[in-house]
Amino acid sequence: MNYSSDLEYAKQLDQEDPLRSFREKFHIPKQANGDSCIYLCGNSLGLQPKQTKEALEQELTDWKNYGVEGHFHAKNPWMPYHEFLTEAMAKVVGAKPSEVVVMNTLTVNLHLMMVSFYRPQGKRNKIVIEADAFPSDKYAVESQIRFHGLDPAECMVELKARAGEVCLQEEDIQAQIEALGDELALVLLGNTNYYTGQYYDMKKISAWGHAQGALVGFDCAHGAGNYPLELHDSACDFAVWCTYKYLNAGPGSLGGVFVHERHATATLPRFEGWWGHKKETRFKMRDAFEPIPGVEAWQLSNPPILSMAAIWSSLKIFEEAGMQRLREKAIKLTGYLEFLVNKIGDAHMQIITPKNPEHRGCQLSIQVKNADKTLYENISARGVIADWREPDVIRVAPVPLYNSFQDAHSFARILEEEIKRMSHG
Ligand SMILES: *Cc1c(COP(=O)(O)O)cnc(C)c1O
Repeated sequence: MNYSSDLEYAKQLDQEDPLRSFREKFHIPKQANGDSCIYLCGNSLGLQPKQTKEALEQELTDWKNYGVEGHFHAKNPWMPYHEFLTEAMAKVVGAKPSEVVVMNTLTVNLHLMMVSFYRPQGKRNKIVIEADAFPSDKYAVESQIRFHGLDPAECMVELKARAGEVCLQEEDIQAQIEALGDELALVLLGNTNYYTGQYYDMKKISAWGHAQGALVGFDCAHGAGNYPLELHDSACDFAVWCTYKYLNAGPGSLGGVFVHERHATATLPRFEGWWGHKKETRFKMRDAFEPIPGVEAWQLSNPPILSMAAIWSSLKIFEEAGMQRLREKAIKLTGYLEFLVNKIGDAHMQIITPKNPEHRGCQLSIQVKNADKTLYENISARGVIADWREPDVIRVAPVPLYNSFQDAHSFARILEEEIKRMSHG
């Protein structure tokens, strides 16, 4: 792409953008002066779709009018409610509907998956994880290892970037997996790293893990709704993700789980509850547990309908936009932002996210050496909502559903002015 830094050019790109009308479907937070914020934090909390309020009100109304009978008589009966989300969610993550369920929250699901897929036996007891994995994932892994009476210092193997590098090299991931061989029980990676924005090829990693007789799972918190995932074809064993980041389902909303269909009828050990029991006989309440074939068997409780209503509302927007079209815009929009940031040409500033669009989603992580949090605070004071990671990284995610090329332009202008002010001040 030959980008230009003219504002007119950004306006033109917005005009040509086939998805431009989707911005209107979201509430964009406002600054004190009434202008819209430059919201680049959809990797942390996605914005509220305008239609979500009505979706929640529908359930509140049905609860008001029907009480418990809403399980059958609500406009969208609560009994099978989670099923209404399945097909759209399966499309977002590239899975078969029988492989996807919305339930619980991310870290809870990670634990439930490890109960089934991390079963250390003899010397096959190691878990491979990124050294800079999201803290919750590490806590989950360490506590699972301890739960089996083992020592995390021995059993948790961290993938580290090469000296002087931030992102992992694929060949190093492969080499580490092969070196562990029959000591490897589970590979668990964030498929898009939350810190660097690096996207890992799930198909390759799954094949490397499986070749050693290990199981492979992914935390897709930063991948779901960002990158068109192909969970089924990647052949990984399981994946988990949340819905409040790129999937715009509201703070603390429920998580998604994928279990590959080859495990559908397997008798894996699993923590069980009544919502995983065969639907026809669930309410007999007496018989022994009979699992629903597929990932629904991992469900424990009847789900919170209000949260599900928000997810469903958001998934309808994804169905309309389509992951492929979103991806096309994301490549262009992130590339444009990268161009603008690089053009600032500050010697202390570098983008640590991979340059190759195939190895990233829409997030760019900008490292500003010698900056302290003041730079971030100064751009925030001017209406930019981004996020700061110690010691020196600003993460920005231009989200194709609601961010514009003019957002990218405004952000880069503010960043440039504040960096210059800093180095002259
Ligand atoms: C956002 C995020 C989490 C948060 O977990 P919750 O259980 O939803 O609080 C965990 N892991 C990763 C990789 C994340 O990006």
